[in-house]
Amino acid sequence: MHSSWWDQSWLEVDIVIVGGGIIGASVAIDVLDRRPNARVMVLERDIVPSGASTRNAGFACVGSASEILHDVQLLGTTAAIDIIEQRQRGLALLRQRLGDAAMGLQEHGAHELFTAHHPALDAVDDLNVLLRPLFNTTVFARRDDDIVRFGFGNTHALMYTSVEGTIDSGKMMAALWGMAAAKGAQFRTGCRVEAIEGNRVHVVTPEGGRTVKAEQVVVATNAWPVMVDGVVRDEYLPARGQVVVTSAIEGLALRGSYHMDEGFVYFRALGERVLLGGARNLDITGEQTFVMACSDVIQDCLCELLDTVILPGKAFSIEHRWAGMMGFSSDKRPHVDRYSPHVVRAFGCNGMGVAIGSTIAQQAADLVV
Ligand SMILES: Cc1cc2nc3c(=O)[nH]c(=O)nc-3n(C[C@H](O)[C@H](O)[C@H](O)COP(=O)(O)OP(=O)(O)OC[C@H]3O[C@@H](n4cnc5c(N)ncnc54)[C@H](O)[C@@H]3O)c2cc1C
Repeated sequence: MHSSWWDQSWLEVDIVIVGGGIIGASVAIDVLDRRPNARVMVLERDIVPSGASTRNAGFACVGSASEILHDVQLLGTTAAIDIIEQRQRGLALLRQRLGDAAMGLQEHGAHELFTAHHPALDAVDDLNVLLRPLFNTTVFARRDDDIVRFGFGNTHALMYTSVEGTIDSGKMMAALWGMAAAKGAQFRTGCRVEAIEGNRVHVVTPEGGRTVKAEQVVVATNAWPVMVDGVVRDEYLPARGQVVVTSAIEGLALRGSYHMDEGFVYFRALGERVLLGGARNLDITGEQTFVMACSDVIQDCLCELLDTVILPGKAFSIEHRWAGMMGFSSDKRPHVDRYSPHVVRAFGCNGMGVAIGSTIAQQAADLVV
């Protein structure tokens, strides 16, 4: 579609942000905090953010004991601790920015369930020594006595941490969009960015194509590829995450959040219901997809976990189920890279965007302000 004379002033801004998830909305806030008069436009393809930020489990966490041990073994102590520190800093920034009530933060701590012996159970003291300088407290403690209190089946051991909470992800994203808009960011939904050429951002809308000019463009599309100056930038791996929510369960004893399997499985109480997600480790290849649909393999596994481990002997049905999209880098680290004089990519939550998303956004804002 040809733009009218009058359209031109609408379609020329200082900074375009592609993607309205936690990173995109946080970049808008960061930029406007530093340059209050900047013209900032967020282009989101859906009517709400439709990747991960409103489709996640709402854990405000830095990692379970078995996951941290795995990261230490995979990445080395320095890199693993650096990532945890970035998550911790991101959570602190998010809380300071929005306030706990606006995102429904509850600090009930978390438990990790072990259905069999795991090396993390022998490494608790070492992990606590590693993490004490960051948290100034003993982070992990065995709590096997609570297995009966929670009514878990097939559970060999339980580990508690106090440094974790849960949020309402819908509230968090609404608060971030509201704050960015109040600072002057223009949110444009239904705008799928097809390509970026130089300082021109080509957008597809239901009415046809449009082009927005921007001095700087921040791409915050999670794992979704973008075309920049004729090159498809698709270096990050998609990882689908599936979630189920049960019917209300009488006398539910769960409180706070729970992890299993090195972070691959997670569940929490949602009022009287249980939200359970993950298990993509059962079908790693099948879940490396951009298709936002639930699969029988994962859904059956989640239901079996509810029946045998989480809610044995309890009556419930599954009332909600959905899929969301995570993006993983090969080194599990955030990546904030300049692709061209006009384009920066902000990526790398690696399944922990509630925690690290604000830190990544800050690094992206540093490059474009
Ligand atoms: C099932 C599940 C459970 C999770 N649980 C947790 C948890 O408990 N705690 C935690 O910390 N993290 C969790 N995560 C991870 C966390 O949600 C993500 O790391 C984080 O939301 C990623 O934020 P983002 O801004 O990078 O991406 P997104 O939120 O995916 O935002 C990217 C946006 O870009 C838009 N977009 C994509 N392509 C285009 C385009 N071409 N044009 C315009 N817009 C485009 C998408 O619609 C999307 O809204 C979970 C993720 C999933 C899927």
